[in-house]
Amino acid sequence: MSSLKHIAVVGAGPAGLMAAEVLAAGGASVIVYDAMPSVARKFLMAGRGGLNLTHSEELTAFLPRYRDAAPWLAPAIQAFSPQQLRDWCEALGQPTFVGSSGRVFPVAMKASPLLRAWLRRLDAQGVRVELRHRWTDWDDQGRLIFDTPNGPRAIAADATVLALGGASWPRLGSDGGWVSILAANGIAIAPLRPANCGFTVGWSDLFRDRFEGQPLKGIALSFGERSVRGEAVVTRDGIEGGAVYALSAELREAIALHGEAILHVTLRPDLERPDLIRRLSAPRGKQSFSNVLRKALQLSPVAIGLLQEVAKTKGLSLSSLPPGHLAALVNDLPIKLTGTAGLARAISSAGGIARDELDADYMLKRRPGVFAAGEMLDWEAPTGGYLLQASFATGVAAGKGALKWLRETGPS
Ligand SMILES: Cc1cc2nc3c(=O)[nH]c(=O)nc-3n(C[C@H](O)[C@H](O)[C@H](O)COP(=O)(O)OP(=O)(O)OC[C@H]3O[C@@H](n4cnc5c(N)ncnc54)[C@H](O)[C@@H]3O)c2cc1C
Repeated sequence: MSSLKHIAVVGAGPAGLMAAEVLAAGGASVIVYDAMPSVARKFLMAGRGGLNLTHSEELTAFLPRYRDAAPWLAPAIQAFSPQQLRDWCEALGQPTFVGSSGRVFPVAMKASPLLRAWLRRLDAQGVRVELRHRWTDWDDQGRLIFDTPNGPRAIAADATVLALGGASWPRLGSDGGWVSILAANGIAIAPLRPANCGFTVGWSDLFRDRFEGQPLKGIALSFGERSVRGEAVVTRDGIEGGAVYALSAELREAIALHGEAILHVTLRPDLERPDLIRRLSAPRGKQSFSNVLRKALQLSPVAIGLLQEVAKTKGLSLSSLPPGHLAALVNDLPIKLTGTAGLARAISSAGGIARDELDADYMLKRRPGVFAAGEMLDWEAPTGGYLLQASFATGVAAGKGALKWLRETGPS
């Protein structure tokens, strides 16, 4: 391809940088613009949790994680599969491994060495990065307008890839500011909503003051047909953590419909009811009731506090409940969720550019030559590596789409 083809990639997260790599490998001259003073801040933050890059399960199990977006995302993920993502990391000197849950991580368990190697490769490919460039709109000549420390700047590009992320953790750069820009340009956007998020609960002052920040470990959470094992954390206003995130899409939708949702907590999922009853039936002697629960069921103080909190809202006195009733409560503790915790605290966002707005090559139908990728598109997925996999894969697809468009119809 002629090196005169100038491509602007806006957004230096995993989706944008991946699009830049594909475009540069295809012979284009690429400049990546980002609003922040450094690149890929959310990716680096993901690295703090070990950087769960993708998941090792078969694609037949992998793809349905994207729920109703699965058929739409499938071609991109089949074309840049979890194994290809692992190979790509390996080629950057960052081999990966499969953890016990099937999740895939770099051996280094962080993002910075991978990002450093990736930026070196991009630099060697001739990709330039312009920081502190906040995209604000197009002008009437179709040029991209950026706010920069030196004032507004207009950039003409032969093609553009937008990869501006969702709106969670806005201090890392992706703040959803692009929604109003694209909407004003006639592009339909499914509203951004918290995904992999916490929920609000009307805790008593006593419970919140005592247990805020404490983890409920080794529990199971159920909602509707789905049950997940894992961990949750009590927050000042509610509950969050891995097991909560896994159910968050269904919980969020139920709350949107009914104004609340009842989450069921199993404090000792490994103990069957008869075993619980037997343990709770042993003579208590002079022990306090909390001590009985701690010793008989090995419940943590926060688990006991939660049991007491729920009993109080139901007008029950735990210490006078018969063992059968108590056992039922221990393994089916209903918690009323009253709302979602804000988008800013969520791990990711649902919603984004409506799928109908894009063609099969991730080009905006209303703006030929402008492509979009990553979390700013209308899909959501649980944690487990699915977010990064889809961000990388749509970055590859948008990059290839832009190359194809430039070859077929773009300016010469
Ligand atoms: C705490 C945390 C942990 C996570 N851990 C994992 C994990 O382990 N595994 C996983 O799969 N996913 C994880 N994720 C999610 C994952 O990081 C995101 O889904 C992914 O980064 C999205 O990639 P993206 O390139 O689409 O957007 P982003 O990474 O959000 O990048 C978008 C970029 O666009 C820039 N930008 C935004 N607006 C403008 C503008 N107007 N002009 C110019 N630039 C702009 C931003 O500064 C940013 O650099 C985690 C998220 C968080 C918050």
